[in-house]
Amino acid sequence: MIEKIYDRILHRNPGEKEFHQAVWEVLESLEPVFARRPELLDESLIERLCEPERQIIFRVPWSDDSGRTHVNRGFRVEFNSALGPYKGGLRFHPSVNLGVIKFLGFEQTFKNALTGMPIGGGKGGSDFDPKGKSDAEVMRFCQSFMTELYRHLGEYTDIPAGDIGVGGREIGYLFGQYRRITNRWEAGVLTGKGVLWGGSQARTEATGYGLVVFTEEMLKTRGETLEGKRVVVSGSGNVAIYAMEKARQLGAVPIACSDSGGYVVAEKGIDLELLKQVKLDERGRLSEYAERGGARFVPGGRVWEVPCEVALPSATQNELDEKDAATLVRNGVQAVGEGANMPTTPGGVRVLREADVLFGPGKAANAGGVATSALEMQQNASRDSWSFEHTEARLTEIMRHIHNLCHTTAERYDRPGDYVAGANIAGFELVEQGMVAQGLI
Ligand code: NDP
Repeated sequence: MIEKIYDRILHRNPGEKEFHQAVWEVLESLEPVFARRPELLDESLIERLCEPERQIIFRVPWSDDSGRTHVNRGFRVEFNSALGPYKGGLRFHPSVNLGVIKFLGFEQTFKNALTGMPIGGGKGGSDFDPKGKSDAEVMRFCQSFMTELYRHLGEYTDIPAGDIGVGGREIGYLFGQYRRITNRWEAGVLTGKGVLWGGSQARTEATGYGLVVFTEEMLKTRGETLEGKRVVVSGSGNVAIYAMEKARQLGAVPIACSDSGGYVVAEKGIDLELLKQVKLDERGRLSEYAERGGARFVPGGRVWEVPCEVALPSATQNELDEKDAATLVRNGVQAVGEGANMPTTPGGVRVLREADVLFGPGKAANAGGVATSALEMQQNASRDSWSFEHTEARLTEIMRHIHNLCHTTAERYDRPGDYVAGANIAGFELVEQGMVAQGLI
């Protein structure tokens, strides 16, 4: 039955391979739910869940510093609003297409449900590449992007945030344009804002910090902690950097990270202050960090070759495959927490699970970012701003709740320790309840 539904989804959404992968991964783990509650299949719930409520595709023309005009494509997929307004980031990267945004929006729906906060799922972005562009070019692009997108947004409708290629600078330009067009100072329409103008403390750190809290909760189920463990992270962007920072605070040693040019290894630990300066302040390359910090740089290599106890894939989708997983297992990895969305291929997940490695799927492990975005919305709604300590304490509490929910749900369905099943089933049950209660919409 599930295969038949999946075939229809493939047929309706041709060529969207990342979306197919994300749907299959969820459907597969819902089998025990349908076995217990076959009536769910009669209500076309899966078909409804896999069809976004709305998909917006638009032209984004902009001019570069020499006056030449370029055209990019903008997307916003408003996936599911059963539990709250659409919420999810914007990704600016040349690899963005409709299938990528749909996979991210689909995942986001379940992730947001797991947080226990009132937020639905959505995602957006563009195939624009901010790399190598001047601030003025990025600003003109963001202004053009928002000139169309603004009409679909609103604090009660759809609230975007950052993702790959969209950080504080881009959110600033987007918010400025929204404010200018609408003549409304509507802080709750975007999250990830600067703390001076409605942003939340700890939002920048939240995804990486939350990922490490989740990973340590998994380790605790086996009587372990992060203390003294070697951590390898892929990526060196927002999620990766703050994951390394929290891991270090909890006594672990982050020894390697990567970007699309290669990876660096520093057995005594990555110099996070220098890394932040090169990657965040100067928007430089990891090779420059290695040169300035005296670390070893391996151009084009796979960061998963570096032996470690904890691996945190935090760059992009499908970046840790079967072979990488086998290498990690051979080198004694104990836990893998996904900072990125769907970074591990299905084959990679299988290898890790068969080796009994603790595996935290992204929709649970990286939910700290969106949870803190929801905290930002709470602060905006009450025109308040909380301290870093208070916000981080709430984040930690939410990550422990998500871990507990996934853990107990997996046990309830006779899959102890299977966080993939736990996250998919728990997320599904929450969204399903909201949809059923609100009738056929
Ligand atoms: P950033 O843009 O800050 O950093 C992305 C990092 O990943 C960079 O080091 C980049 O290297 C690398 N990277 C991106 N694409 C590729 C690629 N195709 N191949 C190799 N390396 C790549 O993004 P974030 O840190 O914000 O996001 C990272 C991941 O975490 C994404 O999957 C995102 O969806 C997910 N995520 C982010 C959240 C957030 O709050 N920011 C929340 C939840 C999930 P380079 O600079 O060389 O391109």
